[in-house]
Amino acid sequence: MSIKKPEGVKSYNATIERIDHIADGLSIFFIKPDEVIPGRLPGHYVSIGLVDPVKNKLIRRPYSLSQSITPAHDPSLLELLIIRVPDGEFTPLLFEQKEGDRIYVRPKMVGTYLLPDLDSEMTMILLSTGTGVAPHMTMLERCIQSCKQVIMMECVRYRSELAYASQIEALATHHSHFSYIPLVTREGGDKRYIQDYFRNDLLIDEFGVSISAEHTHVFACGNPAMIGIPKEDRKTGALHFETAGGLVEILVEKYGLSIHKPRSPGQVHYEKYW
Ligand SMILES: Cc1cc2nc3c(=O)[nH]c(=O)nc-3n(C[C@H](O)[C@H](O)[C@H](O)COP(=O)(O)OP(=O)(O)OC[C@H]3O[C@@H](n4cnc5c(N)ncnc54)[C@H](O)[C@@H]3O)c2cc1C
Repeated sequence: MSIKKPEGVKSYNATIERIDHIADGLSIFFIKPDEVIPGRLPGHYVSIGLVDPVKNKLIRRPYSLSQSITPAHDPSLLELLIIRVPDGEFTPLLFEQKEGDRIYVRPKMVGTYLLPDLDSEMTMILLSTGTGVAPHMTMLERCIQSCKQVIMMECVRYRSELAYASQIEALATHHSHFSYIPLVTREGGDKRYIQDYFRNDLLIDEFGVSISAEHTHVFACGNPAMIGIPKEDRKTGALHFETAGGLVEILVEKYGLSIHKPRSPGQVHYEKYW
């Protein structure tokens, strides 16, 4: 007797070509859509989905596109760095999948977490927690080619979660204007968070970075507590920071940068994952 597949499975339009295991509950999924999805830009994300066999329903979630430096990027594949959220609805299903399994990908590149026009006077600062490094991997080589200085910081719990560290370090050895600063919070030693580097001028003192509204752009991706997204008063435009001491608050109030919006360009760009 054949087992009847849930209805939503008919919408599967891509294949999981490869899964690279990085650490416990952290993998890179390489997905090949049956048809190439056009319009990909650095910083874009896609939605992928699987049918929950119990609920018989397609569950979809957004994931930033990532990009390994080596081997060279294959444009027919979508590379996604994904952490398993144990109580989550989607990721436990995803981590049961094997290479060769079918999956749904919404055939559209989405997002506004995109690079501005780059120039040779620009300092580009790419900041992430956890899997938030993914979109910065798609931006990194372009920034190194075009900007005066590039700083990439990523904060993770365990060293093993630095999925691309060896590739990024190799890039840094060949480009003196690029600095890579990985931070690990749960392996003992000096605990530093990304915000500390801005609150205490560590970036300026230790890496000679100058931060100005004229020449600096900051991209921050991942945990909303690191980013510290403010609420804006619609009438006055005043910002209210519910999480005190977050990155956006420091960048706006200490360094005079402004939040980027599609209609009023600024220097602080963020993508929050939850
Ligand atoms: C634009 C965008 C891009 C994203 N890109 C990525 C990506 O590249 N990689 C990735 O792993 N996730 C990414 N996410 C998060 C992703 O969409 C899901 O929310 C996440 O995988 C959890 O799904 P779930 O159904 O298993 O959990 P849900 O049932 O949806 O439970 C969500 C809860 O899990 C927690 N959570 C969500 N994401 C994370 C996370 N990354 N780390 C720890 N806790 C989390 C939060 O507390 C949240 O309330 C992105 C989210 C957005 C909005």
